[in-house]
Amino acid sequence: MPGHLMSTYNRQPVTFVKGQGTRLWDTSGREYLDALTGVAVAGLGHAHPDIAQAICEQASTLIHTSNIYGIAWQEALGDKLAQLSGMDRAFFCNSGAEANEAAIKLARLHARRKGIDDPAIVVMENSFHGRTLATLSATGNRKVQAGFEPLVHGFIRAPYGDVEAVRAIAAHQRNIVAVLVEPVQGEGGVRPAPQGYLAALRTLCDEHGWLLMLDEVQTGIGRTGRWFAFQHDGIRPDVMSLAKGLGNGVPIGACLAAGAAAELFAPGNHGSTFGGNPLVCRVGHTVLSVIEREGLVQRAEVLGQRFVDGLKARLSGVPGVVEVRGRGLLVGVQLDRPCGELVGRALSEEALLINVTADSTIRLLPALIMSDADADRVMDGVSRLVHAFLAGG
Ligand SMILES: *Cc1c(COP(=O)(O)O)cnc(C)c1O
Repeated sequence: MPGHLMSTYNRQPVTFVKGQGTRLWDTSGREYLDALTGVAVAGLGHAHPDIAQAICEQASTLIHTSNIYGIAWQEALGDKLAQLSGMDRAFFCNSGAEANEAAIKLARLHARRKGIDDPAIVVMENSFHGRTLATLSATGNRKVQAGFEPLVHGFIRAPYGDVEAVRAIAAHQRNIVAVLVEPVQGEGGVRPAPQGYLAALRTLCDEHGWLLMLDEVQTGIGRTGRWFAFQHDGIRPDVMSLAKGLGNGVPIGACLAAGAAAELFAPGNHGSTFGGNPLVCRVGHTVLSVIEREGLVQRAEVLGQRFVDGLKARLSGVPGVVEVRGRGLLVGVQLDRPCGELVGRALSEEALLINVTADSTIRLLPALIMSDADADRVMDGVSRLVHAFLAGG
């Protein structure tokens, strides 16, 4: 038992010691199929040879210096992300929460430019932005906030998917400077934004001079069948946060900005000791190169459709199944009751890694490299679990 670890997680009684592609092995040698990828992290699967080689070569060359000096791999990764996203500049950090912290700080600097000294950012109900004090305050989930009051203020909440609600807030609130929103609410139950929502927010932000800030920590890096989920909508945000899939498992986050928002930070405003070191940036650059070389963004779209079609075929009309939905390889099966126990049952009964989010939605986040045959195995396993669970077995 982990007697000397703080009690922050409800852990399953399984410890993995090895991975290869979409497979994991536990301490007893049992093999599992991974449909979670460490929560949208290992998009290229486990022990990918190009990633292992990048880590080994860079570790034996130079892991870390300091942002006091030039870092060639950080510049190369910034260039690559700008080229793929159409954004202008990047700041590198170590996690999704930190990427959102940078975004929130940009919004505050934007407020100073506008002469607003008590700025507010519109955030959504049911959202998730991280566990630091500012990002948990932005998060729309009381469970994440409880016990940590006083919250950071300067966040105003609106229902997700409702542009008119944001417009209504703007009518009586003069101090708004930004909107922070996920293109698909991942932790909130795999809820894609309604058609036209992001474009309408873009227009509203332009009308008022607000920053449109997208949290793409979960949806970015090919996950939804586009490099970045906003590319489904034909818009460009002012600010975008990334993390999870960018490093395939090495800790890296990035805050990207475009236009005037990209010019807000000046030397001394923000920083990170580890952020953007040569090791993680080389790995991030390699992740993007492999995704590009192997056509994995398109693959995520095709395979995601296979998942949604296949799960609908297996589960639609089953009493207790509310909806199958998804965007690329971010797939949800919503049931009519809490089903958290399915995480453990998937492990023990099906040797399968899945997740349950927002209490009653099964969430699948498979690797972009998963084969059709493995996808079908995942769906067969999930289908058996759901049928048995809903039948009360
Ligand atoms: C996971 C996640 C975060 C937090 O990322 P950490 O790396 O755990 O800090 C923030 N926003 C979204 C949308 C996420 O899915």
